[in-house]
Amino acid sequence: MQPGPAILLSAFAMTAIVGIRYLLSSGGFAWLTAKVRPGLYQGLRPQIGKEIYWSLLSAAIYGVPAGIVAWGWDTRGWTLIYADIAAYPLWYLPLSILAYLFAHDCWFYWTHRWMHEPKLFRIAHAVHHASRPPTAWAAMSFHPIEAVTGAVVIPALVFLIPIHIGALAIVLAIMTIMGVTNHMGWEIFPRIIVQGAAGRWLITASHHQRHHADYRCNYGLYFRFWDRLCGTDKGLGHFNT
Ligand SMILES: [Zn+2]
Ligand SMILES: [Zn+2]
Repeated sequence: MQPGPAILLSAFAMTAIVGIRYLLSSGGFAWLTAKVRPGLYQGLRPQIGKEIYWSLLSAAIYGVPAGIVAWGWDTRGWTLIYADIAAYPLWYLPLSILAYLFAHDCWFYWTHRWMHEPKLFRIAHAVHHASRPPTAWAAMSFHPIEAVTGAVVIPALVFLIPIHIGALAIVLAIMTIMGVTNHMGWEIFPRIIVQGAAGRWLITASHHQRHHADYRCNYGLYFRFWDRLCGTDKGLGHFNT
């Protein structure tokens, strides 16, 4: 196949994968929410409709760089993704996962903080904050400008940091699950993690809830490192349940 149609096909396939992944993960956690916190999303139907609309639009945007890189990986040998588990020492597997999460967190913190500049907030980031309170469906509810900043991260990192294909799958799974659970409106992680030593450095729903309530604080994605270093960490938020 000519590169043009092949790249287009790859982008379509990636869009479908990201879109279906979103519907299954957000749908799954919304179902769980209905079981364990019945009525939490009551009256939020119009908002959820908008969250699904923006999220599926974001899936289409995420599919483009992912599709181009997947095509290049398959046909041109691009990227530092490896399939042979023996290509690097075993200790590198968890280290590579941590490196991806830390790099993504770093990019997210600074672009997110930037998007809270008033002008850019009105143009781009207000879409994400229109979810008041957010639901499990808000995981990818971004304006296209914000979606582009998120869509390029993993496709860029695979050219910079070597990673095993299985480790990459773990990174993507963590990204998906945390994106949904952080917006779900209740805390899924046990107290011992959230209130304990780990919770001082890890971001879960309790931390991100405060970002949606107070706006100019708690900008991080996975770790509280940058928020704490830059004095933007206001601590954990509260749920109305
Ligand atoms: Zn959010
Ligand atoms: Zn924000």
